[in-house]
Amino acid sequence: MKAGLEVHQQLAVGKLFCACRAELTDDVTEAFTRSLRAAGGENRAVDVAAAFQAARGLAYRYEAGPTSCLVEMDEEPPHPLNEAALDTALTLALLLRARPVDEIEVMRKIVVDGSNTSGFQRTALVAVDGELEVNGRRFSISTICLEEDAARKVRESPGEVTYRLDRLGIPLIEVATGPEITSGSEARAVAEEIGALLRATRRVRRGIGTIREDVNVSVEGGHRIEIKGVQELRMIQTYVEREVARQEYLLRLRDELRRRKAGVPQAPPVDLTELFRDLSSGPFSGAGRGGQVVLATPLPGFAGALRSPPGSDERLGRELADQARSVGLRGLVHSDELPAYGVTEAMVSEARRRLHLADSDAFVLVTDRSRERATEALARVAARARAAIDGVPGETRDPLPDGRTRYSRPLPGRDRMYPETDISPIAVPEPRLARLRAALPERPAELEARLVRTHGLPGEVVRQLVYGDHLEPFEALTREGHPAGLVARLLNQDLPAVPREMPDAPPFEPTIEVLGELLSAAESGRIGKEGIPAVLAALASGAPNLSQAIERAGLSGFSREELVALVRTVVGRNAELVRSRGEAAFSPLMGDVMREVRGRRDGREISDVLRAEIARVRSSGGKS
Ligand SMILES: [Zn+2]
Repeated sequence: MKAGLEVHQQLAVGKLFCACRAELTDDVTEAFTRSLRAAGGENRAVDVAAAFQAARGLAYRYEAGPTSCLVEMDEEPPHPLNEAALDTALTLALLLRARPVDEIEVMRKIVVDGSNTSGFQRTALVAVDGELEVNGRRFSISTICLEEDAARKVRESPGEVTYRLDRLGIPLIEVATGPEITSGSEARAVAEEIGALLRATRRVRRGIGTIREDVNVSVEGGHRIEIKGVQELRMIQTYVEREVARQEYLLRLRDELRRRKAGVPQAPPVDLTELFRDLSSGPFSGAGRGGQVVLATPLPGFAGALRSPPGSDERLGRELADQARSVGLRGLVHSDELPAYGVTEAMVSEARRRLHLADSDAFVLVTDRSRERATEALARVAARARAAIDGVPGETRDPLPDGRTRYSRPLPGRDRMYPETDISPIAVPEPRLARLRAALPERPAELEARLVRTHGLPGEVVRQLVYGDHLEPFEALTREGHPAGLVARLLNQDLPAVPREMPDAPPFEPTIEVLGELLSAAESGRIGKEGIPAVLAALASGAPNLSQAIERAGLSGFSREELVALVRTVVGRNAELVRSRGEAAFSPLMGDVMREVRGRRDGREISDVLRAEIARVRSSGGKS
């Protein structure tokens, strides 16, 4: 197998072609609707992926907020390109030892899925021919581009997709590797290294969705498949491994179909609506009523080939169903899974008779209120079945949370770029590069070594900061004087462990100010360090400020005076034990005090007070 990555990282430098703030918001102040059509590219041909999307005929609704402007609505030409974004892209290019281009040409890339109000995404090549070393292996970096992010999809209903404009125009750096990755774990390691390099520029946005990966995978004899928009880095390995398994399955299936001399005739679908008219349940229950049709397409030689082979989770039936879904159907039913869904053995035999099929043949059924849509679905199903005889068709696929992927659209071709005439070419003179070279940030390995040196933290803890999402808060909080060990534990362990209300909810990310207040509370003894997770959980579930979070966590109102009083009571109650065992009484008594105080005072403070009290009682001969 071989794989390549495209890493997309949002930058925290405003928007790329206007002066708006780059902030995601739920504040919607107006909305408007557009429709888009596919137009020819620079060489006049219409891109296949663009034509596919346009054929869906969807309406696109855009929600604008207080930070949206006319550029985002495509009612005003773009402003000049954001110089800070370009500097960041050039800096990354230098870190990757890539060669910046002499002149930046902004291009329009046709995208008609509605994610851009204009029907295109602006993109500019910044540098080529870089390299990266990961675990002693070299990987080539083919291109580094600067792009604008698309609008954010917030809702989908039949015939209409709603996007929000807040994300549109946020600058993205796109880093594309060569196809030299040879395993899923290597893909993940390369993605992690590129992510760490991007964060080293200190100009990137943090949090889920701010870095997204497209993974290209192919096996020998297969075809390039693009898995688009992976947000969870740790899932990359799974997606790559499952895609390899899928392509290997499709290649074995190809050999089997060729051996059987399977073929899919170019023929119109057969109407079987009458046959299923009496069904009262299942997918065909409405057949013949309200225009609901049931159409069938024969697949000669495909019997048994649509279900999963033993020991495999892959099946052609699922690939065909994805095609039916791509025109808006809920799915399909194929003969390998029949009789089922209320369809009897007799109905299956009758369907076979009407389709003139032998036992070695299969067929597919779809049902819909629109005959046109059902016909289009079967045309796509037939084309996909035909492609199975050739092997692996090239596709763009969507990642699913369980590690599988699903067909999304054909691979885009080369016909979708043309020059952006509203932006003049931007020269990249040597003095600009020299200035950036002089201020080049540390690479991840250098950064790691420095953090180990200056903070005395274990390498593994520092590595988690450098390769994770919390380097920036770590640096800000230690700069404010908070102890590095406490900050690292808060960011590496306590924050990720905060319970989420929904499994797929984004991780809880309080502001650096709130984290600083929380650390101060622990350092001053207002709460114990052991109380930090409970306070974080209270903040995550909606406590408006730190004081209320401490109260909700049940950690408030325990003063030092109360602590001293409690310790005196506990020691007094155990005066006999203190006299007989001396210092050795400390451990059991500490346990008693901790049970009362929990995370409400710092552990070290408690032990200091307790030791002092034990010493006092012993020196006074037990008279307290
Ligand atoms: Zn704007």
